[in-house]
Amino acid sequence: MSTSLSGARRARELAELASGREVDLLVVGLGVTGAGVALDAAARGLRVAALDAHDLGFGTSRWSSKLVHGGLRYLAAGHLGLAYECAAERHILLRRTAPHLVSALPFVLPLTPLVSPARTALSRVGFAAADALRAVAGTPAAALPRARRIGAAEVLRLLPAVRRAGLRGGLVQWDGQLVDDVRLVVALARTAAGRGARILTRCRVEAVDGGSVAVLDTLTGSRHAIRARAVVNATGVWAQHLDPTVRLRPSRGTHLVLRAEALGHPAAALVVPVPGERNRFVFAVPQPDGLVYLGLTDEAADGPVPDVPEPTTAEIRFLLETLNATLGAALTDADVVGAFAGLRPLLASRAGGSGGSAGADGSAGADGSGGRAVRTADLSRRHLVHTSAAGITTVVGGKLTTYRRMARDAVDAAVAHAGLPAAACRTAWLPLVGAAPASVLARVPAPARLVARYGAEAPAVLALAQGDPELLVPIADGTEVTGAELLWAVRHEGALDVDDLLDRRTRIGLRPVDRARALAAARGVFARQEP
Ligand SMILES: Cc1cc2nc3c(=O)[nH]c(=O)nc-3n(C[C@H](O)[C@H](O)[C@H](O)COP(=O)(O)OP(=O)(O)OC[C@H]3O[C@@H](n4cnc5c(N)ncnc54)[C@H](O)[C@@H]3O)c2cc1C
Repeated sequence: MSTSLSGARRARELAELASGREVDLLVVGLGVTGAGVALDAAARGLRVAALDAHDLGFGTSRWSSKLVHGGLRYLAAGHLGLAYECAAERHILLRRTAPHLVSALPFVLPLTPLVSPARTALSRVGFAAADALRAVAGTPAAALPRARRIGAAEVLRLLPAVRRAGLRGGLVQWDGQLVDDVRLVVALARTAAGRGARILTRCRVEAVDGGSVAVLDTLTGSRHAIRARAVVNATGVWAQHLDPTVRLRPSRGTHLVLRAEALGHPAAALVVPVPGERNRFVFAVPQPDGLVYLGLTDEAADGPVPDVPEPTTAEIRFLLETLNATLGAALTDADVVGAFAGLRPLLASRAGGSGGSAGADGSAGADGSGGRAVRTADLSRRHLVHTSAAGITTVVGGKLTTYRRMARDAVDAAVAHAGLPAAACRTAWLPLVGAAPASVLARVPAPARLVARYGAEAPAVLALAQGDPELLVPIADGTEVTGAELLWAVRHEGALDVDDLLDRRTRIGLRPVDRARALAAARGVFARQEP
């Protein structure tokens, strides 16, 4: 079956389901978790529908730091199992399922007067342990080089903006970086569609009643009942709407968007310790298209969950001030070209747990703090899979890096609960659309920038410009995105409007000035769309 998503396919498949065709598994939410569940279930031979109230990657998944972590932070906190899970999943993404979307990135901790000798020694131990985990997970040093100490000149070559005075050298460690988080979600959804999953955006699930799911088509305003033998709730920070027993404590993480030139075009991520904290750092991570994301904060975000969270002035201040302590020349607000915030769907529990655990009071993810205040930075990053009395399997918490495990556990639980005839999970060996071994990707006849986003499909994106070379020109000042990419998004990636194009299929929307410039081109692409 085709992996292409489009408005026409959406309308056809929604009509089929609305007319009474039953699916085995209906997934609510198309962030990285829900898209992963859709792929896992479809690959096991189940009939699947996956719905999102908005768009692919509309929620937290698009506001991440875009890192595929090896679990260093969990090692430091003593969570060995979780750290190994991260390293193993990083290996699968980097080497098998999405080598086009994930690359190795050096992270450099400059040894400035801010970093005491004790902290340096501790960091070296942590980096060595992370290296050992990399090796145990099977990732060769050729793919993710070993951690090492470097001299001051090498630090300044990689990070030209770092303050020279008092610089004693640096520690460098390597981890995985996604070209963009929504690219992963889109690739998962399309791979699932290729295995027959119906991927339906702009479909809000309003209620689940036994085997009947009430859906509002937000494009037309019409309501439908879809029949499903099992339902997986993968709605992230919105999970409580479908299962009120799930206990979450969302935490807001904010990033600033900087032009790379403001930091002298860094070739590595800059790691800056947060003063007064033992295990907290701020990162300035280079991105494609001449940008750097500076993150990140960790602030409790209690109260109603907004569709799009907003960074606060205090968070912007904190990030700039922490970074400036390490720079030769301080950055100012004028260097900030954008800012974004996301809500982590953290379990209100220290221990978390997967595999259907529930609190003693029947709540899932009950707070183990005994009433004491718990900082969100201390809350568990584990995931929880919980099947409610109403038969809805909720999967929540975790990380973008570990989405595949979360999906596997959720499908296992839903299959067992509903008695579905399903094969075993096979996603550890299932390449996503565009994936190919690194040696093949290196020979794909297309610009490296496109190969990093579309992998082996990059030549097909270029081919859309045959007879119309204008489509290969950047659509606006300040971006390298071309018209061909927008057209591809509409024809193959299910983009339904300009917001889908600018805010998710591409990330031009992260810089408001560039977004305004690109708006006309995005509108124009729908006019080109074939009937
Ligand atoms: C600032 C920040 C940085 C992070 N950085 C990293 C990182 O670098 N690496 C990493 O591994 N992890 C990172 N994480 C964690 C990671 O981003 C999240 O764990 C993950 O994206 C959560 O994905 P999800 O699919 O569970 O939720 P979401 O992405 O929020 O998806 C939920 C979806 O459900 C939909 N929905 C909600 N209600 C309904 C309904 N009633 N009907 C239909 N659809 C509905 C929403 O529209 C949404 O698209 C970060 C998190 C934050 C906040």
